[in-house]
Amino acid sequence: MDTNVRVRFAPSPTGPLHIGGVRTALYNYLFAKKHGGDFLLRIEDTDQNRFVEGAEQYIKESLDWCGISYDEGPEKPGDCGPYRQSERKAIYEEYVDKLIDNGRAYYAFDTEDELDAKRKEAEKEGTKFSYGPKNRDSLNNSLHLSSEELKEKLEKKEDYVIRFKTEAHKTLELHDEIRGYIEVDTEVLDDKILFKSDGMPTYHLANIVDDHLMRITHVIRGEEWLPSLPLHVSLYEAFGWDVPKFAHLPLILKPSGKGKLSKRDGDQLGFPVFPIEWKDPETGNVSAGYREEGYLPETLTNMLALLGWNDGTDQEFFSIEEMTQKFELTRVHKSGAKFDPEKTEWF
Ligand code: GLU
Repeated sequence: MDTNVRVRFAPSPTGPLHIGGVRTALYNYLFAKKHGGDFLLRIEDTDQNRFVEGAEQYIKESLDWCGISYDEGPEKPGDCGPYRQSERKAIYEEYVDKLIDNGRAYYAFDTEDELDAKRKEAEKEGTKFSYGPKNRDSLNNSLHLSSEELKEKLEKKEDYVIRFKTEAHKTLELHDEIRGYIEVDTEVLDDKILFKSDGMPTYHLANIVDDHLMRITHVIRGEEWLPSLPLHVSLYEAFGWDVPKFAHLPLILKPSGKGKLSKRDGDQLGFPVFPIEWKDPETGNVSAGYREEGYLPETLTNMLALLGWNDGTDQEFFSIEEMTQKFELTRVHKSGAKFDPEKTEWF
């Protein structure tokens, strides 16, 4: 592999980072170090409604305690930093304009009431409403407005969102480093919102623009983002950009194996699900963390590395340096890993 590997960990500061997020950061870090590349931290804070005070600081402190250091990030800007998306709005505006200009995005003026009515209509007919290739021509958007009509609406400051124009009747051929080949018919996709009516970009647009501008070569992230892969690859194609490699990590599951381990599961498990203690700024409730329970950071990173990956031997303890040597994406498991503190060997 070439030496300019660049990966990123891109958390949204919507609360504390639980161990699933730490594992994603760790795998990115190991992959970057193994290939002599760069590991970036990017704070994805464009969703104002979900912003939680103190979460960014918590994320940085957790990574720091775990020994997962980043080469570029909010306090270590690289050539297009700082990497805090709320500070990069003008960049996303510039890029969404490019999509509008090349006909791959459009303004949609439909109100919530209008969309609700459409949803109810579809429900009555036993179908599901989706804003996409099949029905966008009959909806309230700029695709069938003259440039004068559009200008007038914009001047009147009518509320709008900007949507991506999905290509109809196309088979997308996708590749995931862990999952392999995936084929998706664009018929199942809708025209996702790229810019919201509050004037902020959505995750999808900001994420793709940043991955491109930051020259990310491998996107290693949780499996919950796999359903967004067709849209993300379509966005790269619409911009005419090279698509990075993608690797979607299997979920960390509850001890029962049923469902994803969530931030709330710590209460029932009697074991922390957070690397360090978290004090909720609203309720004042404190959730336990491994640091305060007296664990060594190496113990946590070792346990997390082995949740979903192994080096093919029976070795049970690896230093971070050893993990860096041995880590391969091809040895990441395809199915979810149960987090069962009772059955875990803690060194
Ligand atoms: N902001 C997203 C998250 O918090 C990032 C997903 C990605 O890595 O693309 O999970």
